Amino acid sequence: MPAGGRHCDVLVVGAGPAGLSLALSLAALGLHVAVVERQDQAAIAAPRDDGREIALTHGSMRILRAFGAAEGWGPEEAAPIRAAQVLNGRSARFLNFRAGADGCGPLGWLVANHRIRRALYRCARAEPRIELLCGRRIVEQAADARRAALRTEADGWLTASLLVAADSRHSETRRALGISARMQDFGRTMLVMRAAHTRPHAGTALEWFDHGHTIAALPLHGERSSIVLTVPAARAERLAALAPAQFEQRLNRWLSHRLGALRLCSGIHRYPLVAVHADRFVGPRFALVGDAAVGMHPVTAHGFNFGLSGQGLLSAALAGDLRAGRAIGSDSALALYQRQHRRRTWPLYHATNAIARLYSGDSSPARLAREVTMGLGARIAPFRRAVVRELRS
Ligand SMILES: Cc1cc2nc3c(=O)[nH]c(=O)nc-3n(C[C@H](O)[C@H](O)[C@H](O)COP(=O)(O)OP(=O)(O)OC[C@H]3O[C@@H](n4cnc5c(N)ncnc54)[C@H](O)[C@@H]3O)c2cc1C
Repeated sequence: MPAGGRHCDVLVVGAGPAGLSLALSLAALGLHVAVVERQDQAAIAAPRDDGREIALTHGSMRILRAFGAAEGWGPEEAAPIRAAQVLNGRSARFLNFRAGADGCGPLGWLVANHRIRRALYRCARAEPRIELLCGRRIVEQAADARRAALRTEADGWLTASLLVAADSRHSETRRALGISARMQDFGRTMLVMRAAHTRPHAGTALEWFDHGHTIAALPLHGERSSIVLTVPAARAERLAALAPAQFEQRLNRWLSHRLGALRLCSGIHRYPLVAVHADRFVGPRFALVGDAAVGMHPVTAHGFNFGLSGQGLLSAALAGDLRAGRAIGSDSALALYQRQHRRRTWPLYHATNAIARLYSGDSSPARLAREVTMGLGARIAPFRRAVVRELRS
């Protein structure tokens, strides 16, 4: 542990959506936060469109509104999801989830990831208690029972009462601090793109598990959808190399022309499908948030929603330290955060991975199991109501 160095209350590694959200929550408690980011300022201030549309729950939207971040996009940039439909191959059975006419609003909203990042960056920039240190390379980190520290080439040593890793599912900080993680590589790649189509989607998100691929069509404003195609990794390369007209032809066929004639209106972004759950979320004077703690399979759209609820739990636990007059980052506060966040994420992490395996398997038993679970889900109304309630909480 270094003897000197510039001190702040909390050091956050990673100015992604989870790191910036945590910094904003901690600043609201009156804490001074330094966020250390590898990418340069321009890339963080105006993130490039990465093709991702993030399905935000009502709870996430409330948090983003409280930060002032939800003002960073107009109503035409947050597309409501009014219903969701899950289909299994050519089977006549399907699952339907509807928002209903109870005045509680849609199931959720789709907002582009780069818009969320840009809005959070603007809020963080306007907050005097947050220092953004972009374009930094971390060369060393350390933590003991009293404090944490990291060293960058540009700043020398920076010390804090707590160090938080928010540096993605492949977190280098998690590894440097000696925390192991379970990784599940699905051997598949997601191809993500936007498309215009001639038939309306009526605000319905479609998830279609078919033989050899899964295709999701997420409703955007106007007659446009975000298309997420999941295929074995080698096939993804071949598909992405097709001429746009050929690619569109396949999409139209796989969607059975449900959206009419579909035309690509963006480039194709590729994401290898790897899920991660860290074995611990905390240690002496350090914690993990966002994908560094739990990197979800996107099929149930929980990744950033968990990132937001997790940062809320950590900041609430640290508020407990402040109320008790303790230095923030006490063992008891970190243990509370770990317990609460694990209780929420662990069951859904494993359930999501099991669903993903079941629904992407092409063997006859997997197809039969899908048919049976789909039939049950379609018949059990309380199950469907519980899913809708969870999305709206
Ligand atoms: C196709 C797709 C669709 C998705 N859909 C949804 C959805 O519908 N709903 C949902 O909730 N989630 C969804 N997700 C998940 C969501 O995008 C992630 O959970 C979220 O982006 C994680 O945010 P993060 O801040 O933890 O990590 P990241 O977004 O990965 O940000 C990490 C930051 O840390 C920085 N960094 C990395 N290493 C270092 C280092 N060594 N030093 C300093 N900085 C570093 C990076 O530059 C980056 O800025 C989806 C993901 C994908 C791929």
